[in-house]
Parts: sequence; C-alpha cells; structure tokens
Amino acid sequence: MKWNFQNSYLQLPAEFFHRQSAAKVPEPRATVVNERLIKELQLGAYEEADLSVLSGNSIAEGSEPFAQAYAGHQYGHFTLLGDGRALILGEHVTSTGARFDIQLKGSGRTPYSRRGDGKAALGPMLREFLVSEAMHALGVPTTRSIAVISTGEGVHRQDIQPGAILVRVASSHLRVGTFEFAASLNNTSHLEALARYAVQRHYPELAEAPEPYLELLRAVAKRQASLVAKWLSYGFIHGVMNTDNVAISGETIDYGPCAFMNRFDPAAVFSSIDQKGRYSYENQPRIALWNLERFAVALLPIIDPSEQVAKQKATDVLQEFTTEFNAAWSQAMTRKLGIESAEPSDILLVAQLLDIMTRQRADFTNTFWQLSRTDSPTPTDGLLAGEDFKNWHSQWRKRLEHQGLAQAKAQMRASNPAIIPRNHRVEDALAAANLGDLEPFTRLWNAITHPFDVRDSDNDLQTPPTAEQETGYQTFCGT
Ligand code: AMP
Ligand code: MG
Repeated sequence: MKWNFQNSYLQLPAEFFHRQSAAKVPEPRATVVNERLIKELQLGAYEEADLSVLSGNSIAEGSEPFAQAYAGHQYGHFTLLGDGRALILGEHVTSTGARFDIQLKGSGRTPYSRRGDGKAALGPMLREFLVSEAMHALGVPTTRSIAVISTGEGVHRQDIQPGAILVRVASSHLRVGTFEFAASLNNTSHLEALARYAVQRHYPELAEAPEPYLELLRAVAKRQASLVAKWLSYGFIHGVMNTDNVAISGETIDYGPCAFMNRFDPAAVFSSIDQKGRYSYENQPRIALWNLERFAVALLPIIDPSEQVAKQKATDVLQEFTTEFNAAWSQAMTRKLGIESAEPSDILLVAQLLDIMTRQRADFTNTFWQLSRTDSPTPTDGLLAGEDFKNWHSQWRKRLEHQGLAQAKAQMRASNPAIIPRNHRVEDALAAANLGDLEPFTRLWNAITHPFDVRDSDNDLQTPPTAEQETGYQTFCGT
C-alpha cells in the first residue's frame, strides 16, 4: 500500500493528543481486507508486507501515531475521555487533496484508557466493519473500514475472545467531545485553534465568514439533522449517541451497540445498558439536538465575548435544527413512497403508514421494499392483508397518479433497500468468524454492498428473524 501521510492535527496545542506507538501484537493476520476501498483511497493494493503497519507492529513512512484527547457527555454526564484503545496513524491525502484519518482501533493502552485494556475483540470489530460498509452502500455518511486484523492474542471480556484491530478511515475524528475537551481547558486560544482547524478541514467555505464559529455551529447542526433523518429512514439505531460519538464532519461514527430494526417499533432500543431508552429509535433527533447544545456551550467563548450575546446567537441558530430535521426526514420518507416533490399533506401519508406498521409490528425494511416491488398489495403478511392498509394503499396510489407509477417505483427502488445487515445474520456471521469460518461474513458483506438489488441466491437474507431469534436481542458497549 502507498501511504501519503500528513499530520496536520499535530499542529494543535500539545494538550490535544498524546504521541505513542501501538502495542506489538504476536501473530497478526489479515482477517478481512477491503480491496475496493484501498483502491478508492489511492492506496494501491494490499500485500502481505502491509500487515506490519496495519497491525501497528511497524510505523509507515510519514506516520506519527497519536491518541486524541477528548471529553464527552455519556448518558448525560460529562467525563474526560480520549482514545483509550485507538491511535491515529496520520492523515492519508489523495491526489485531489482529500484527507482521511487512518486509525487503528484496538491498538493497546494509552493515557486515556482509564480501566480499559486498550484492546478490541474480533467480533465487535467485524461488526463495525460490516455495519459501516452497509451504511456507506446505503448512502449514509459514515466512517469506513479498510481491514480487520486478527492479533493472535486473547482479550478478556465475559470470556476470552480472539483479539483484533480495526483499520478505520474517517474524514476526521473531530467530535463534539473534542470541543468539550477544548472548552474544559479554559483557554480561549486553544479552543479557537481547534475551531479554526475544524473549519479548515470540514467547512473551508466558512473561513471568511464574519462569524465563522457561529456558522460552524449552524453547519454541523445541518449535517446532523440530515444524518439522523437518514438513520431513521433505514430503521437504524446508533445506540450510543454520547457527545464523544458525534463527528463534526457529519459522519456516523463508533458502531458499538448499533442495530437495524426488524419489526417497526418507534421505541426500539437494543443496547443492554440503555435502560431508560435515552437512545431509542424515535429519540435520536431529540438527542442529536441535545448533543448540539453541548457543542454550542463549548463554542460560546469564541462566538461572542459577551456570554449573554453568545447564548442568544447560539440559541437562534439551534432553533433551525428542528425545521432542518423535519425537512430532511420528510424528504427521505416521501422518497421511500415514490413521491417526487413532497407537499405538506404527504407527511400524513407517511405518518399513517408508520402507524399501521407500528400496530402490526411490520418489518420496516421489507414493508417499504414490497411497496416498491408490487403493483397491487399482495397479502404476503398481516400488514398487507389488513383493511387499514388497503385504505392507505388506495390513497397512496391516488397520490402517485399524476406522477407516473413507473417513475415512482424507480425512485422507490433506489430508496428502499432489500438487504440490511439484520442482527441475527450478523450474529451468525460473527459466531462463525470466531471459529475461523469467514464464509457467512463474506457473503453478508457482499450482499450489503448492493443493498438495493438482491440476487436470487441472497433472497434468504431478506427474511426477518423468527420471534425466537428476535426476543431479547441485545447489543453491548465496552466491546
Ligand atoms: P465508546 O463506547 O467506544 O465510544 O468508548 C468510550 C470511551 O471508552 C472512549 O474513550 C474509548 O476509547 C474508551 N474505551 C472503550 N473500550 C476500551 C478499552 N477496551 N480499553 C480502553 N479504553 C476503552
Ligand atoms: Mg466512542
């Protein structure tokens, strides 16, 4: 692989990072390599010799590994954090000037590890690989995954699991929590250095704005609104929307206890520790706004010298979030129904369908997929057979009349995936991988890479879990 590393982050004040190299691993092995992404990033091709850099056992030319300092509100409580088990190798820069952080996740202890071992287990790293690549294929902004490297070590969790390192790519790892960390330093020039850096890296068009940091808040809020609307439109639950897991770039980051929903339930939560449903499916827009408020609070000292004025300005900007989110959500959901340019009354159509789906506990993905395939409601399951649905269906078809059904269906086919990484399939694939069989993982990975067109041989991947497979499905943090 041909790296072209730069290290612009290291120009920030020293408080923002800790330079160190990765822990050596005994027996690195490339378990999964994303050849296509390697090519896309102009990294050449993977060869056996690259294993040493990807496992952290050696340092590539131009790389200056470091852990990032950050803070965050975890379940509502402020904590100082930082990369406790990750290192950024550097920023790989392509010929067009696109800049990507290359990060090793599971690379050993750092000063920010607290009580953690700094390691990662194979299952959760394969899970992040798969879900992040699925999100990318669905068109959702996300960090991506270059490879999962098995380390040959055992890591202690509930039991001993095979250890691994995920090689992750992000347009940056700047988080809301990075700004909360900067604000905690009580040093306005450090805070401004970070904000200037974030503007340069992600929103260069704002650099000359009269109030660049207020505009930064607005721009980040807009991207979060659009991101969360996309999540909802695919039935995705992030699961741990702490402020340290909110990227300034607008990419989805940190796939811990995330999951795609099967049966539609607005209150769905999968994370074992989210007892109160703080990060449930339907709470995600509200939590995104709460997180943006934490971002705003961190930025106040550089928005305006007067705290009162700064607060007023930030409040005004964040008031746009709900409008932005509603617009993005309406657009995403009406597109799923084949509606080309949405009118206010179309929201009712969406709401009615979601209501029927909730009552019938209909499969989220398959309901929309079937709508985009069939010309008449086929009574393949309870939802499509019901009276409520039939009424809804004729209203919907009437709505599409003046638009042309063929065109509507084409649009729907591009918005309603056939294949999502369903939890029971992911779990089966990870269980097999833990025993050394990567076939189910590779098959699922191939399928989720083309979510909108399903091959006959992959039809079974569309089948929702049985009630038994679904009952009590939980995901875990601290993986
Ligand atoms: P996450 O839940 O992955 O967003 O992680 C929250 C915080 O815990 C971050 O600061 C991580 O670096 C840290 N962390 C998670 N797992 C470990 C681990 N095994 N060892 C050290 N730190 C960890
Ligand atoms: Mg995190």
